[in-house]
Order: sequence, then C-alpha cells, then structure tokens
Amino acid sequence: MADLCSSPSKADATCWQCGAPADTGCAYRMRLFAEPSRRLDSRGYLVKRGSHQDIVTIAIPRCRTCRSRGRISLTIIFIVTLAAGVAAPFVQSKFWPQFDTPPGAALFQYGVGPPATGVGLLLGFVVSLLGCALYRQYLGARSLATYPPVRMLRREGWHGTRGG
Ligand SMILES: [Zn+2]
Repeated sequence: MADLCSSPSKADATCWQCGAPADTGCAYRMRLFAEPSRRLDSRGYLVKRGSHQDIVTIAIPRCRTCRSRGRISLTIIFIVTLAAGVAAPFVQSKFWPQFDTPPGAALFQYGVGPPATGVGLLLGFVVSLLGCALYRQYLGARSLATYPPVRMLRREGWHGTRGG
C-alpha cells in the first residue's frame, strides 16, 4: 500500500536528469534572480526578498550518479580550460611563430598572459563545455536548465545571473 503522507510527489522522487530514483540529499539547488521592484510571482517557490535582489531557489531532484557526474563535468571543464590556457602560447610559438611573443615574456612584462592564453582559455572552456553537454546527451540525461519549474520561472522574468 502506498504511503501517501510521507512519500514525496512522484516528480520529486525521480531524478530529473536520468529518471532513476532521486536521492533527497543530491538535489541540485538552482537559484534564479529578479529585481525586487518587479515583484515577480515565484509560483509558490520559496523567495528570499532582498533590497537589491529577489532570489528564488528551486530544488531539482537528482540521483547520486547524476550529482557526481555533474561534479566530474565541472572538474573536467576547469582542468581542460586551464590546460588549454597554459598550452596555447607554446602551440602558437611552435606553429605560428610570426605572431609570437615568447611564452612567459609577456606574462612578466605586462602582468598579463600573451593573447594566445586568452584564446586558449576560451577555446578550452567552450570545447570542454560542449564535450560534457554532448556526453550528457549521449547518456540520455536531461539538462538542469530544462526542468519545467525553471523554464516557467524564466518565462515569468526570473534570470540565472545576479544583477542586470
Ligand atoms: Zn540521475
């Protein structure tokens, strides 16, 4: 017999990303922001109203596997981005020496990396982000951004970044 009182709703009991049974402690807490003057409807979700920013928090049910997969993705993106930023000036000086500032020299001279570092960081970030998204798609896991309450609140005018 189903215990209707203590069990969460069916949607909350299922991992949004893969459909496996969700783990209570593994829910992803997505925060959306809005200007307080707009007094946006939070559709029943918990809102922290502030003087600069209203913040609504949505708990997206997830299983343990998807949580650790999410953490691994973040780590991969971080490492690949960093590695690409470090490697880019060396790659550039090897293949396109005509644009060269010696690796390291500009770093010390101006306190900023050679332009190739910036290009490398950007490329590393985009490629690793895309790689993780494709891998998730290959696994058949859904993106957190497509969780219906998140979409609904975004349509109301809530947005994913502070300010603006
Ligand atoms: Zn899952």
